[in-house]
Amino acid sequence: MTKENPAPGRAKKPLLVMKFGGTSVANAERMKAVAEIVAEHLGRSEVIAVVSALGGVTDMLIRAANEASEGEQGHWNSVRRELAQRHREVADQMLTAAEQARVLPRLAEQLRRFESLCSGFALVREVTPRAMDALSSLGELMSATLLAAVLRSRGVASEAVDAAELIVTDENFGNASPLEAETAAKTRERLAPLRRRGIVPVVTGFRGATRDGLATTLGRGGSDYSGTILGAALDASEVWIWTDVDGVMTADPRFVPSARILPEVSYREAIELSFFGAKVLHPKTIQPVMKKRIPVRIKNSFNPSAKGTRIAPSASSGQPGMKAVTCVTDAVLVTMSGKDTMSFPRLATRVFNGLHLESVTALMATQSSADNVLCFAIHAIDWPRLKTRLEKMFELELLHEYVGPLEFRSKIAIVVAVGENMKGTPGLAGRAFSALGRRGINIIAIAQGSSELSISFAVKASEVKEAVSAVHEEFGL
Ligand code: ADP
Ligand code: ASP
Ligand code: MG
Repeated sequence: MTKENPAPGRAKKPLLVMKFGGTSVANAERMKAVAEIVAEHLGRSEVIAVVSALGGVTDMLIRAANEASEGEQGHWNSVRRELAQRHREVADQMLTAAEQARVLPRLAEQLRRFESLCSGFALVREVTPRAMDALSSLGELMSATLLAAVLRSRGVASEAVDAAELIVTDENFGNASPLEAETAAKTRERLAPLRRRGIVPVVTGFRGATRDGLATTLGRGGSDYSGTILGAALDASEVWIWTDVDGVMTADPRFVPSARILPEVSYREAIELSFFGAKVLHPKTIQPVMKKRIPVRIKNSFNPSAKGTRIAPSASSGQPGMKAVTCVTDAVLVTMSGKDTMSFPRLATRVFNGLHLESVTALMATQSSADNVLCFAIHAIDWPRLKTRLEKMFELELLHEYVGPLEFRSKIAIVVAVGENMKGTPGLAGRAFSALGRRGINIIAIAQGSSELSISFAVKASEVKEAVSAVHEEFGL
């Protein structure tokens, strides 16, 4: 029998979906801090927890799978031992004897799944995206099993829930998207009995499942997205994303140590920042909550009393100008030119269709219609796939020189300045330009977001840190 929490969810308390990232649940001490955060808020709110794998675990799983598929016999054995040890340590330190007896067999079962999947990959010398999702999301199953048990050991009624039972996705393995209506219906139905009894669900982040029940994942860092998907499905009051920094900052603190916390950012600013590399949020995090205008808060589990950053439909601070600077550090700049019969619109249509067919996102694009030249930047990881596609699409045109050779420049970074109120503030691009110029940083391409919410500069990847600092300093962020 699961003991129930004193004040069941039936009383109309605000519902908080709280997502805890990998560093927030990395070990026994961190799990303890998370249990304290949940327990503290339970008095005033109803809480649904969403949890990432223990820090570093997803990387380990993916590496083990790839090595197994390359025939690296036995590597996964050492990974299995490390996984067992890390999870066991939390169980030893945080769980009552009764909870250990309940939970250790489940963890052992999850590790057996890891082992049998890896030996399957080694046997067929392949790991398909579908099989990879079944394996890479095992970390979340283990962490949710553990966190629910840590909560129970502390007297908080809790139950681990596999998001594969809640989040229905398309079949885009490795980067799946939720089917909104089905997800809302399943989530409400599955969680209702727990909520009625005041039991805190601890839901696995990152995972979902197709209509046929095949495990999918929402993309690396996707537990943030899980949090807002569930928040929207349940009409939560707020979604809180607990991480290892005090909030969204004016720049990645690893690049700019003097970066400041932003008390408030708008949905559009958060979308723009995460799209352009601010790792603090998965790029799709804001999407699910937009329609219902549910606020998202970024909080630090290492410093819970800090207010964090509130992400709301529109930020109230009317501070003019630029708000933050971010960057994509590993991009490729591609240039294609058309000749004679290959008009610019025709060239651009076909190139962008190629991007669409390969599901590749353009980070920035510039054109020179007069001489039929299109230049665009993409994530480096997408380039081999896109190159093959474009070479095939333009095979004849390349042969007959109706289009120029496919030119590309790798080791490019895109530096992006973001702010709602940049619109109508003249001279920002010029100042950023001069700030980079003074430091001898050459701007390879420049583009302004059509919404005037951002300005992007392509620079050499080796100069990205200095470029981000230069912009941050110039605008006194
Ligand atoms: P979690 O494991 O909690 O999901 P992540 O590592 O995915 O945490 O994201 C938090 C990290 O994002 C921070 O430690 C920080 O280094 C990085 N980061 C990048 N850009 C920003 C930014 N603008 N503001 C805050 N953090 C940022
Ligand atoms: N554990 C997953 C990852 O490392 C998801 C997440 O942490 O958000 O990508
Ligand atoms: Mg993250």
